[in-house]
Formats: sequence, structure tokens, C-alpha cells
Amino acid sequence: MPNLRNAAFRAGLETLYFTGAHRVLSPLWGGVGLIFTLHHVRPARKSRFQPNRLLEVTPEFLEGTILRLKRRGVDLVSMNELHRRLREQDFSRRFAAFTFDDGYKDNLEFALPILERHEVPFAQYVATSFPDRLGELWWVALERVVERADRIVIPIEGREHFFYCERTDQKREVFAQIYGWLRSLSDENEMRAAVRDLCDRYGVDPGAPCRELCMSWPEIEKMANSKLAIIGAHTVNHVMLKKWPREKALNEMRRSREVIEASLGRPCEHFAYPVGDPTSAAAREFELAQEAGFKTAVTTRPGVLFPEHRDYLTALPRVSLNGNFQALRFVDVFLSGAPFALWNRFQRVNAG
Ligand SMILES: [Zn+2]
Repeated sequence: MPNLRNAAFRAGLETLYFTGAHRVLSPLWGGVGLIFTLHHVRPARKSRFQPNRLLEVTPEFLEGTILRLKRRGVDLVSMNELHRRLREQDFSRRFAAFTFDDGYKDNLEFALPILERHEVPFAQYVATSFPDRLGELWWVALERVVERADRIVIPIEGREHFFYCERTDQKREVFAQIYGWLRSLSDENEMRAAVRDLCDRYGVDPGAPCRELCMSWPEIEKMANSKLAIIGAHTVNHVMLKKWPREKALNEMRRSREVIEASLGRPCEHFAYPVGDPTSAAAREFELAQEAGFKTAVTTRPGVLFPEHRDYLTALPRVSLNGNFQALRFVDVFLSGAPFALWNRFQRVNAG
């Protein structure tokens, strides 16, 4: 279960930090730079049931992270500069890039002022159906279903399954179970239909999260006007590309690029794979991103950058600034590369 994994991961980070093991591993495993993944940036909310909390950090944590990186002498660079340094193998200084996925309104409201105050370049990856107001943020829709229901019935392979979720601890458990089941489905259409059906039966508007949370085109344009911003592509429909036929996957990548270029009147050269784990982006997708002409493409596979990543520019790892681990001491642990060395079993590149 995710909660257990969180607890284990946190314990691992704490152990690395307090034993100083991260400092020992750092010279070999710290790499040359890293890319941070962020989603929401907004003040903490009070609700006890926040199963998607890993996808948000507070403005204070973002600012603290920036200040700590600067104090550690890390260059904060754009994805274009990161691409140049990898291509030219320019590793005279360590570097980090900030990237934000999906295109949330709170990025404009809370993150942009901080990034501007500290002159931090960043990339914002937009799934173009979101500003078109056609996006399905199915993971938020599922949260709303579990939040309001006391009991959920789901037909799975012809049998009805009952989930009891009156109490908060039950809601957390039920969300994790249903989320795990949805993600295990090989057909994403089936997955989305299941969430729409749940929304329908439990009175949740599946289109509301997109309208409430995502930037409109004028808002994206406002963000794009910052000289620090690069607007990258994130497919049209936020699909898990690996689960789709080749042509559909390539089309999702190309189309999102074209729509962004047409809307903003500037080139769109960087890409982020939606979800971005090995079940949604792997060898075929890394090739498709090249075929679609992107300079870089980022996954959510955990890791820091090594010189070898010059040959894997469309399979770059990232480090998630995760809402469940908002302690600045973890930034030092991330910089050491130690947790990712362990995660990747001491392989520098994980692009299979
Ligand atoms: Zn995304």
C-alpha cells in the first residue's frame, strides 16, 4: 500500500540523513545534476483525507528548497541549459532544473511569484485538453467519490465488490485499493470509463476538477510571458502512452506540441510523459519522443543525472518534490543521489 511505501521511504531518507550515509555515497552517486518534479504548489489544506497529497507542496517548501539549493552552490537552470550541459558535457558546476506537470492554476498564483523573486527558470508541461476544459483528472475525481461515499460498489470482472469507507482510515485504504486496481488495468479507456461510472453513481462531476484546478489558455499565456518559463508538452489527454497503440501515442505527443505552438506562437521543444513510470513510458515511448522531435523528455523514474544521460535525452529521470516528504533536510539527501542509487540498484541509467 502507498502509505506503507511512504513510511518505508521516509524511514530510508531519515536513515540516510541521520547516519550521514548520504555524504559517503554522494561523491560517486550524486551525479552532475537533477530535475525536480512538482505538481501543485499551494497552502496546506486541513482535510484528513488527502490521498493525492504527494502531488502538492506548500509555497514555503518550494521557496526553502530554492534557497537551500542556492546555498549549496547548485546552478538553477532551464531545460534548454540543462540540455546544453548534457550535450556538451559541461559539468563544471552542479545544476538543477524545476519542472511542473499538468498546468495547475496554483502554479501561476503561488509558484510563479517565488520563481520570479529568486530568478529560477522552470518548465511547465501542459496536457492541452486541460486548458481546453476537456481534461479528465480521474485521480481527483476518484478522491471526491471516496470522500463523499460511505460505501462503494464496483463491478470487477463481472462480480460486485463492496468497499466500506465511512471513516477516514477506511477512505485512505479504499482509495489506495481502487487506485491500484485502476492503474493495473491494461486498457486506459476501461480505466477512465470505470471512474466516469463511479462519478455518475456517486454524484461527482468528473469534469469539475479540470475546470477548478487547471489554467485556462489566457493563464498559460500569462505564465509563458515570464522570461523564466518554458512551456512543454504533456500529451493532449494526459494518457499513459505505453498502454496505447504506437500511432495513437505518437499522435498524442505531436498534437499537444502543435496545439501549444499554435496557441503561444513559440516552439515547444520539451516533453513530460504523463504518469511517467515504467508502466506508462518505456523504450518505445523514448523513441517516439525523439521521432516527435523533442529535445528532452522527462519521466518520473527516480534518479539524478549522470554524464551518460547525454545518450538518453528522452528518458531523463526526475526527483519528485513530494508532499509527503516536505523537510528541507531531504533536499540534501536527494542531492547526494543516495536514495536513487539504492532504488536503481546502483545503475546510473534506468531507461529500459
Ligand atoms: Zn501529469
